[in-house]
Amino acid sequence: MTSDNPLERYSRQMRVPGIGKAGQQRILASRVTLCGVGALGTVLANTLVRAGVGHLRVIDRDFVEPSNLQRQVLFDESDVTNNLPKAEAAAAKLRAINSSVQIEPVVADIDRTNIEELCRDADLILDGTDNFEVRYLINDVSVKLGKPWVYGGAVGTEGMTMTIVPGETPCLRCVFEASPGPGEVGTCETAGVLAPIVSIVASFQAAEALKLLAGKADAINRELFVLNVWENTSRRVKVAPLKGRKGQCPCCALRKFEWLEGEHGTQTTTLCGRNAVQVTQRRAAALDFAALAKQLSASGPVTANRFLLKFGVTDGEEPYEFTVFPDGRAIIKGTDDPDRARTLYAKYVGH
Ligand SMILES: [Zn+2]
Repeated sequence: MTSDNPLERYSRQMRVPGIGKAGQQRILASRVTLCGVGALGTVLANTLVRAGVGHLRVIDRDFVEPSNLQRQVLFDESDVTNNLPKAEAAAAKLRAINSSVQIEPVVADIDRTNIEELCRDADLILDGTDNFEVRYLINDVSVKLGKPWVYGGAVGTEGMTMTIVPGETPCLRCVFEASPGPGEVGTCETAGVLAPIVSIVASFQAAEALKLLAGKADAINRELFVLNVWENTSRRVKVAPLKGRKGQCPCCALRKFEWLEGEHGTQTTTLCGRNAVQVTQRRAAALDFAALAKQLSASGPVTANRFLLKFGVTDGEEPYEFTVFPDGRAIIKGTDDPDRARTLYAKYVGH
């Protein structure tokens, strides 16, 4: 894009008194790590790239499917046809939106072995995930490295958000000490999700992000904000008194980073609403797609691009669809049983 004044495209944003030219220059020099580029993540990435963040790292483990298109605003039908990973599909759109932003797509599952590296150089971490395990990891890293993060979640027609600035506000574990057990909260499988609540929650998160990046931390939301677009309700829960939980919060008071140091990097993860299980197998070297495709071609059609390899098998009269990534990770559709998935992985992908 040609313009004599590179700041011209941000002129309307700079007129907002809290931003100004100085705030815009801080935004342009900022680095953000976005964990998850699905429903919340696509709205967050779209807004921040248009706003002119300097560098955006987008991390996601999944690929684009037809049921994503109802709410994941950066994707379209061609991304489904081309079997693109979400991080790569998002990066292509984001580069077309604002070529002056450095976009770094990372196709990976966020776990305790990689999250510190992915967040170390960021000024801000954003939650675009759909699971509490990653949120507790983000919370641990945020407190450990002293970097702010913005929590967001949406299920059904309800969503919530909270901004965490280590040392200033309560952390996630001060407010939610343990993750909700299975069945305690709705998932997108049981409750579905309405696109507007996603946009609203992510837009609140993006506003918080812009305040923090522009150096206006005094303007952030310091409460847990809960909204329901179907019931037309909103609640603000005062969480400030929970800060440090009387010196006993394991994370921000005792600095015990249990998620980061624990054995939570599970080998299998059942994926929300997908009848699918992810199997993670750490490998020393990238998978050889050509060799694997040759080996599998006897069982049925195999398709591959440089990001992933897909194939279908019928095993015990049940159909399964495998999506395998170069790092050895696989998403197996057709079961939500981790043991079954592990067996299928060993049988078709190998050890
Ligand atoms: Zn805490």
